Amino acid sequence: MPGLAQRKLVAHDVRSAPRHAGRAALFLGLLLLVSAGCASPRSGETLQRHEYHSDHMGTLFTIVLYASDSKNAEEAARAAFARINALDETLSDYRADSELNLLREKPVGVPTPVSADLFAVLERSRRMSRLSGGAFDATIGPYVRLWRFSRKRQVLPSAEELSLARQAVGWENLALDPAKRTVTMRVSGMRLDAGGIAKGFAADEALKVLRARGINRALVAASGDLAIGDPPPGKRGWRIAATEIDSGTNFASQVFILRNAGVSTSGDTEQFVEIDGVRYSHILDPRTGLGLTRRIQATVIASCATESDALATTVCVLGPRKGINLIERNPPAATLVITKDKNGEHQYQSRRWP
Ligand code: ADP
Ligand code: MG
Repeated sequence: MPGLAQRKLVAHDVRSAPRHAGRAALFLGLLLLVSAGCASPRSGETLQRHEYHSDHMGTLFTIVLYASDSKNAEEAARAAFARINALDETLSDYRADSELNLLREKPVGVPTPVSADLFAVLERSRRMSRLSGGAFDATIGPYVRLWRFSRKRQVLPSAEELSLARQAVGWENLALDPAKRTVTMRVSGMRLDAGGIAKGFAADEALKVLRARGINRALVAASGDLAIGDPPPGKRGWRIAATEIDSGTNFASQVFILRNAGVSTSGDTEQFVEIDGVRYSHILDPRTGLGLTRRIQATVIASCATESDALATTVCVLGPRKGINLIERNPPAATLVITKDKNGEHQYQSRRWP
């Protein structure tokens, strides 16, 4: 039974970290700064810090939570990772049998009922496409496929390949019906890609699972996407730091304190392909079908991780000026953008940036 196997795998997979293993945990472009010692909440019971790790969606997910009962803490973490695993099975573009990929086999022009999770992600993606004038686009799958070939073969796609892909890309080619919860592909050859939003969504959903079990002082991190709940006991919030572009180290450029929010960093520090001396990011410009060639890293704080994840990718595509304009129009979001060129690094921040 697949359900049982999956549960076993998840149980085996969850790794507990030693308490206060380090002073900082490094995620993509973000650091979680660990405060020493455990404070007690007002009620008088002692809350202990617990940290768990598990691999999902091609990355390491981390849960940090405060709980008075270790058994309850571990069960809650397992349930949260199981939720992330289920979302991976739905949203993955790598698994041939994910619900997202199976949509490719559906006939053009016919509404297909989809799960609530897939619909929610596609709806949030469409909202981001509208807001950004198409800079964020979950129908970008045909271009992503070409980018992956490029990475493997070290050559750019041909003009023919790009123009064929272009016919199947465009967020307006995907019709969503909220009343019936159906998805209709209006042209053939469409491929969906939730890579710019799925990790943030999964982090938010995992945080909800913890909350449903009474664990509110928690944080879920998926590489560069963090869903942040209530603060650690006795604190105003979680201390997070944005790291410098390309640093790959725990050199904190800016420290801020967050609670009940999402924060994400996007950029090409980890994933890119270099062809003829030009670096192409895994974040693609839907107008060209190619990876971004401008060196840019965007950190976005928003009301939740789904929002911060999609916004961070979008700000990278739009660039600092248009990206910050978009952020200013969408309170409470805030962003710190770092670009790098031959003259060095440049930092830009929106007005609400802490
Ligand atoms: P990371 O996966 O490193 O956290 P992002 O959140 O920025 O980075 O997501 C990058 C992924 O989003 C790409 O690997 C691809 O799957 C998808 N993607 C790339 N370009 C776009 C775009 N313009 N709009 C929406 N999704 C994109
Ligand atoms: Mg993103």
